[in-house]
Amino acid sequence: MNTYKIAVIPGDGIGNEVVPKALEVLKQAAELNGTFQLECTTFPWSCDYYMEHGKMMPDDGLEQLKKFDAIFLGAVGDPARVPDHVSLWGLLLKIRRQFKQQLNVRPAKYLKGLESPLKNPKGFDLVIVRENSEGEYSEVGGRIYQGEDEIAIQNNVFSRKASERAMHYAFQLAEKRKNYVTSATKSNGIVYSMPFWDEIFKSVSEKYNIKTDSFHIDALSAYFITKPEMFDVVVASNLFGDILSDIGAAIMGSIGIAPAANIHLDGEYPSMFEPVHGSAPDIAGKGIANPIGQIWTGKMMLDHLGEKNAADNIMSAIEQTIANGIKTPDLSGSASTKEVTEAIISYLK
Ligand code: ATP
Ligand code: MG
Repeated sequence: MNTYKIAVIPGDGIGNEVVPKALEVLKQAAELNGTFQLECTTFPWSCDYYMEHGKMMPDDGLEQLKKFDAIFLGAVGDPARVPDHVSLWGLLLKIRRQFKQQLNVRPAKYLKGLESPLKNPKGFDLVIVRENSEGEYSEVGGRIYQGEDEIAIQNNVFSRKASERAMHYAFQLAEKRKNYVTSATKSNGIVYSMPFWDEIFKSVSEKYNIKTDSFHIDALSAYFITKPEMFDVVVASNLFGDILSDIGAAIMGSIGIAPAANIHLDGEYPSMFEPVHGSAPDIAGKGIANPIGQIWTGKMMLDHLGEKNAADNIMSAIEQTIANGIKTPDLSGSASTKEVTEAIISYLK
């Protein structure tokens, strides 16, 4: 029996509601599978913790987290009490950065029963692999002159290593899916970094037997709306991946179901699994938060740990639950967090 050590950080707001529910689903899926178990340790690090201790996590927090196989996080943020930059940098971004989580991976899939804003959504099923350590979000640049002559310069930083790393991940993921990788580029307008990105994409693609395409980000964004079903894995720089990820979540119909993973690739630190949505203070405590984003995120964590059967089982239970109309209010349903969770557990096999 494999045992995986999971660090659980429910965080703030609805994180406290959806994380325990997701753990119920994960544990049940593990039990039914019978070949692995999750050993979970919960950490109370959050804005509540900040109010008491003046920091989001203890000084040796990262040291404590380091020994786990994965981190399962809910949401961080309580802007009424703690400014967002304090809570984000004190926990979430600190972990992402110190643990070198270089990729952000987000699937978008059309699930029958969802109200996609697309008029005629055909079964899209894609994954966005976003390089998350450099690119357009670099800290290189500055401002010169003043007044009407003032100029701001922001440099893009693309390293061969980080770009290759993201692309290899994308190709290896596509091998387990539909064998197709699309690269997001803009080499007709951005004349240094993007041709470099294209070159690396071409050389990495030669190592795989996988169909590829490369589209400029403007056209690619439009295709996400007009024919998202054409994509399998899409690999993108930090900024382009950020934009595509939000479009991906939007075409699914609710931020409450969108999952995400922050992946560390060199085996030195744990990866972190955290849904796209935030702490949603407006609905916290009402028992109506959609648990699917967190549960699907847990499914991604199981995939990452190598437990594909249990992960697939959870996905199919999520799909059946939505198809049968058991939905929270954000999906125009009337079910509670608890009822959706119970339905998902009942569909596990
Ligand atoms: P962030 O915390 O990332 O800065 P935010 O605070 O702007 O994001 P969220 O907390 O994700 O955004 O909330 C945005 C909106 O989506 C809110 O109205 C919230 O109620 C709704 N929402 C978010 N997650 C869920 C969920 N799991 N179930 C139902 N509604 C949700
Ligand atoms: Mg927020």
